Amino acid sequence: MGNSYEAVIIGGGPAGLTAGIYLVRAGISTVLLEKRLVGGAAINTEHVENYPGFPEPISGSELMGRMAEQARRLGLEIKEFLEADGVVYEGGLFETRVDKEKSYRSIGIIAATGTVPAKMGIPGEDTLLGRGVSYCATCDGMFFRGLDVAVVGGGDAALSEALTLANMVGKVYLIHRRDRLRAQQALQERAAKNGRIEFLLNKAPLSINGGEQVESVTLRDTLTNEGSYLKVSGVFCYVGSQPQTDFLGPLVDRDAAGFIVTGENLETRSPGLFAAGDVRKKSLRQIATAVGDGALAAVNLEKHVLEKR
Ligand code: NAP
Repeated sequence: MGNSYEAVIIGGGPAGLTAGIYLVRAGISTVLLEKRLVGGAAINTEHVENYPGFPEPISGSELMGRMAEQARRLGLEIKEFLEADGVVYEGGLFETRVDKEKSYRSIGIIAATGTVPAKMGIPGEDTLLGRGVSYCATCDGMFFRGLDVAVVGGGDAALSEALTLANMVGKVYLIHRRDRLRAQQALQERAAKNGRIEFLLNKAPLSINGGEQVESVTLRDTLTNEGSYLKVSGVFCYVGSQPQTDFLGPLVDRDAAGFIVTGENLETRSPGLFAAGDVRKKSLRQIATAVGDGALAAVNLEKHVLEKR
């Protein structure tokens, strides 16, 4: 049985929720499908201080909770714990399948499915997952109270999560493979001033070691090739992100890293199918840019719906 809407939004992060707010206010019948709880990756950020409108830092979960409340109050239908596992285009309509029996038909779609953490692909990463290896400091940091941990990566995620961990754990070793960090300057400065964060630059992790739990990381100096061991109880990996687009099959073009390629109006190669937020090929992935994407995709989807109605 198919449920019919004019617009289906897939993904309930800042891009998807903003798109929902715009579409329901425009009178477009819309449903938002989210595979977990709405909020997206932003709910894992402890302090958001570059999203305008909040003079004091706000937690990602509170900010996203407010966006979801606003969307619901305006009448957006949100369905949680529904994962889109395939989209096809047939007879002038998109059909989004969420399980074998249920599907949602629509004139247009906004894919706002974001990313999942990339893996380092080193020995111990999978076998010690949940036993010291983690991809979420906000979720798991409390298990490492007073213990020393490593954070791998030099981007915004690594730095902001290292700062979160520094409030809970003994010491944080920030392991980065080059001598320069990629993260925004404000985060770098804050981490440098934090007495609990030690930078290990020009170091690449070769393996994560341990029996029942993580015990150490083997490192290689990227300048001298010298090996070393670092004793830690946890390893938090932030080496980039992978877009979630498999369910769209051939309906979209992707760049070499798998991000969805769109035109200026955020439409993909399939008319009526838009992409917004981190899942899209773009130069800056922030809550603010995801919100902008959501608004733009929604306004252009609205035009598409009005033409096809
Ligand atoms: P990112 O910016 O792509 O950084 C990934 C880091 O991991 C880079 O420093 C990279 O090193 C390193 N790396 C990649 N592969 C590696 C490997 N195999 N072994 C060791 N290190 C490796 O990813 P991100 O930090 O997850 O951020 C993703 C996006 O989300 C960015 O656009 C970011 O701005 C945004 N974001 C923003 C915030 C915020 O504003 N607070 C928070 C989180 C994420 P190289 O530098 O040498 O390439």
